[in-house]
Amino acid sequence: MTVRWGLIGASTIARQFMIDAIRAQADGEISAVMSSSPERATAYARENGIPLAVSTLDGLIGTDIDAVYISTTNELHLEQALAAIKAGKHVLCEKPLALTGADARKMVAAAKAAGVVLGTNHHLRNAGAHRAMREAIAVGRIGKPIAARVFHSVYLPENLQGWRITRPEAGGGVVLDITVHDADTLRFVLGDDPVEISAFAQTAGMAGGGLEDGAMCIWRFKSGVIAQSHEGFTTKFADTGFEVHGSEGSLIAKNVMTQKPVGSVTLRTAKGEEELSFDREDLYARSLRQFHAAIRGEGQPSATGEDGVWSLTAAEAALQSARTGKTVEINPKLESAA
Ligand code: NDP
Repeated sequence: MTVRWGLIGASTIARQFMIDAIRAQADGEISAVMSSSPERATAYARENGIPLAVSTLDGLIGTDIDAVYISTTNELHLEQALAAIKAGKHVLCEKPLALTGADARKMVAAAKAAGVVLGTNHHLRNAGAHRAMREAIAVGRIGKPIAARVFHSVYLPENLQGWRITRPEAGGGVVLDITVHDADTLRFVLGDDPVEISAFAQTAGMAGGGLEDGAMCIWRFKSGVIAQSHEGFTTKFADTGFEVHGSEGSLIAKNVMTQKPVGSVTLRTAKGEEELSFDREDLYARSLRQFHAAIRGEGQPSATGEDGVWSLTAAEAALQSARTGKTVEINPKLESAA
């Protein structure tokens, strides 16, 4: 059975990665795109070979599609996802799922009630590097995990220097943009959930409107692991990376907080250093493959709606901590997280 997709949002991420990822599936097809502007919808459809361009949500949802991919600005995700779910469509939504954890929980509850699949497009879980790290930790190759460090401060490309750095009401700022990914990747790699966070945020010259363009967070996980993460839009020359240090070894991954299947993972133990090998499949294509399988009733999306609630709750807590100067509890208030 072919999965017919409708794109909600004439976005950069869809153009750069997700359209190809859908078309990389033997059973994936893009039927329509929706933009709030009829001209942009038509131009986007033409440039990307999409048969139908529409400019209203009802216009898209009313067509014969099975699933929607939502990649509009963050304040629109909730309403668009709820409408699609109501119409019985499966939803793959960009992160952050919404602007608050409470709204993200509404999406999860609605999808559950409607019996449709809801996924969060946390691409980094699909990276071979992160899966290799998770597996190495799970089988005990670093002993007992003690601490983790995430280096995820980048330079926001000029073509993306729009709503992210100017529009708080659209869910701009580096925490909703990148800290959400770090929350999800830490949870995935460690196989553990965060319980509290302490954060500093800064405005280092790029963002306006009171938005932060840099953040450093300190996390505590259920198992007792502590972690630090650095997210930024303004560091032109910084590398990305992810380290986990345990009682019997360390995992040191370089250039892995990225959209491409690149980078390296080194395991360092008393025996010396070993480069871990991992697959180089496109992260977004893998995300789509898992999502299609979930639609067929085979497993779950690589990041579920609940995972999206977790990452957004953590980002919200980071923002609250940065604002108040206090450590903040991370509680996604999910039934399964009791
Ligand atoms: P874009 O800025 O490219 O697109 C967001 C919206 O902006 C579009 O839906 C579009 O509205 C509007 N827009 C685009 N171009 C124009 C224009 N020329 N003039 C006016 N409005 C325009 O955002 P991104 O693709 O960077 O991000 C979209 C979502 O995806 C966000 O939620 C973000 O967090 C997420 N994201 C996720 C990534 C991941 O790896 N998981 C990576 C990057 C982003 P309309 O549809 O109405 O035309």
